[in-house]
Amino acid sequence: MADTIRVTVWNEFRHEKTDQEVADVYPDGIHAQIAKFLNDEGNIDAGTATLDEPEHGLTEEVLANTDVLIWWGHRAHGEVADEIVDRVQQRILNGMGLVVLHSGHFSKIFRRMMGTNCSLKWREAGERERLWVTDPAHPIAEGLGEFFEIPHVEMYGEFFDIPTPDSTVFTSWFQGGEVFRSGVAYHRGKGKVFYFRPGHETFPIFFQPEVQKVILNAVRWAAPTKGPYSDLSRALNYQANETFEVED
Ligand code: ZN
Repeated sequence: MADTIRVTVWNEFRHEKTDQEVADVYPDGIHAQIAKFLNDEGNIDAGTATLDEPEHGLTEEVLANTDVLIWWGHRAHGEVADEIVDRVQQRILNGMGLVVLHSGHFSKIFRRMMGTNCSLKWREAGERERLWVTDPAHPIAEGLGEFFEIPHVEMYGEFFDIPTPDSTVFTSWFQGGEVFRSGVAYHRGKGKVFYFRPGHETFPIFFQPEVQKVILNAVRWAAPTKGPYSDLSRALNYQANETFEVED
């Protein structure tokens, strides 16, 4: 994989500005931390975009130059303009990868791509999560053991209202007894979508090597391939490749 993968890390970037506890963990914002560890890789060029930038930082030009979009949002999902959601959706259907993290399950773009409520159970008790690899052949599980643990998390529990995934790469267990499909992969048009559960704003989860490894693997998996078709928004009247006759 010689080509550089161009990543845009999107963050609503509100908690970090108003909540000291969050700013202590992510002083430059969650997006900056994610871009930082991705940029430590040789063939990834990661930039950032945030809600309060013009067009939420997701202009036509930015999206045209993005291979994989990473999405973190929580309390301001409703402030994301529908026009931008339309634009991002079309870009995904034409090949851009989307990696949605944690509370992004309720983002407009993830719900748009899933077509379901994407609701779940939650509890903020700081308990332990064990993420089991439940699709060991999937590229996103590359280099991992049978499971890894995150010491302190916000719990997300089933039922997670998503369509049946193409692949469930991770399934989590929590100390409180719940389980959750915590890493799920989809194809949408020419694009690939991966939802990954970890990432609460008050825990240093995006500093954990296994979490970084999964996001890195997800970026590589979701990157577009040089296949046919560049605009899937239209249905074409298509001339036959061979001459043929239709019998009466
Ligand atoms: Zn959270």
